[in-house]
Amino acid sequence: MENNKKYALVTGGSAGIGKEIALELARSGINVAINYRKRQEEASKIVEEMKSLGVEAIAIQADVSKYEEVENLLKKVNEVFPVLNIVINNAGITSDALILRMKEEQFDSVIDVNLKGVWNVCKVASKYLLKSPNARIVNISSVAGIRGNIGQTNYSAAKAGVIGLSKSLAKELASRNVTVNVVAPGFIDTEMTEKLSDAIIDEAVKHIPLSRIGVVSDVAKAVKFLVSDDASYITGQVIAIDGGLSI
Ligand code: NAP
Repeated sequence: MENNKKYALVTGGSAGIGKEIALELARSGINVAINYRKRQEEASKIVEEMKSLGVEAIAIQADVSKYEEVENLLKKVNEVFPVLNIVINNAGITSDALILRMKEEQFDSVIDVNLKGVWNVCKVASKYLLKSPNARIVNISSVAGIRGNIGQTNYSAAKAGVIGLSKSLAKELASRNVTVNVVAPGFIDTEMTEKLSDAIIDEAVKHIPLSRIGVVSDVAKAVKFLVSDDASYITGQVIAIDGGLSI
């Protein structure tokens, strides 16, 4: 299938890794719907940038943690796009604290967006993806979901959950030729990591074999590969994009 006949949804596409994934897919000729929660202006600019690359592009506001909003999101995508071939579950938040200081709401909010949000989108999008001959789902987890991380009992639990969810879904959808894979970034330079102190970043870099934190294109290029025809025999896998941190 030519890329310009492919249609993708990228959640959390208004910033950081999601923005770069959307642009990378658009650069390869894929039509893209981005979802965002708050940043409408930024999302509109990204839509214009994608359109200038010659693809169809739209932005739709929805909180992925809310099932009804996800139903509306997919309905709107379906009204504009004739088919849905690719879903990238990228939207995510952090709310870090050591467990003794972490409030119950911090645990719940991170699980709601980072794990329930992925389930909501997978569940609602599946019925659209199953109409496509070889659809793709890529879920963004984290090195924290593989190795754990101090101050992130909520985030690590959600991101480990994304891995389990994706492996189960890969088995469920394989007979319909839908692949489901996970990308697990390490430290990537975005607003999410800007919140971390220089001391934490410097300490992290000491443990990264490639001795640098990653950039958004490191993740986006792996996602582009996983949704390409070259990755058609890969499913249920977790690809760490972390400079070797998880070795
Ligand atoms: P970011 O710069 O903070 O961007 C987060 C994106 O998610 C924004 O577009 C935001 O939209 C959207 N979002 C947040 N909550 C949402 C919700 N409830 N519904 C819909 N959209 C929502 O984060 P990032 O660093 O690019 O991270 C992207 C993904 O990679 C996340 O899943 C994150 O956990 C994962 N990750 C990041 C790193 C890293 O080092 N940066 C490492 C490992 C994994 P609005 O701003 O418009 O609300």
